[in-house]
Amino acid sequence: MRLRNKPWALDFINEHPEVIIPNPENFLGKWNEVFGNDNPLHIEVGTGKGQFVTGMALQNPDINYIGIELYDSVIVSALEKVLEANSPKNLRLLKVNGADLAKYFTKNDVSRVYLNFSDPWPKVRHEKRRLTSDGFLNLYESLLIDNGEVHFKTDNRGLFEFSLVNMSHYGMLLKYVSLDLHANMPEDNIMTEYEEKFSKKGQPIYRLEAQFIS
Ligand code: SAM
Repeated sequence: MRLRNKPWALDFINEHPEVIIPNPENFLGKWNEVFGNDNPLHIEVGTGKGQFVTGMALQNPDINYIGIELYDSVIVSALEKVLEANSPKNLRLLKVNGADLAKYFTKNDVSRVYLNFSDPWPKVRHEKRRLTSDGFLNLYESLLIDNGEVHFKTDNRGLFEFSLVNMSHYGMLLKYVSLDLHANMPEDNIMTEYEEKFSKKGQPIYRLEAQFIS
């Protein structure tokens, strides 16, 4: 994701605490207070400009969604999308590092983790930064419900193969694997910004659903 300097971003973010939660550590173990219900919570790590998480929230009003994005300059685009969609009640954003998820979520807080077009970090020495490496799987397992799931889409074959092997070695159950999602596009597929970009270029989109086994 190319980062553009947006000096106004921080002010805009601070003006919308109803969407981008300012102190998410306050809701560890009690996200139901934010949403006002006990519906399942699905999070997307690396939300980018927010098209996926906004589309999912509109499509599934009985599920709560949180989009997590590291950069001010990127999350402001997600904020604009959420506002354009009239701020769905079941959707919030967090401007935090996915590596710090344990500060904000504890066991059973989350029912599903979405990873979409995560940065590939192709160099072997950067393996630990991949969002499907062991450290991150361990982190997701620590905040998911029993038998919680990770759903992952990417255009990057290397990262997809790494993720399949790594999740399998970790002991996760691979429930669904597609090497060309758009060849048989599920009716309810919500495209991310990167998915649109790469599929327009004719590149296959890889997708998997993996479940932790308790
Ligand atoms: N998911 C979007 C899509 O499919 O269009 C964006 C994909 S973009 C390649 C990856 C995004 O993940 C970037 O916006 C980046 O800033 C964010 N990101 C990368 N590492 C992150 C982390 N550790 N925590 C939160 N966001 C992260």
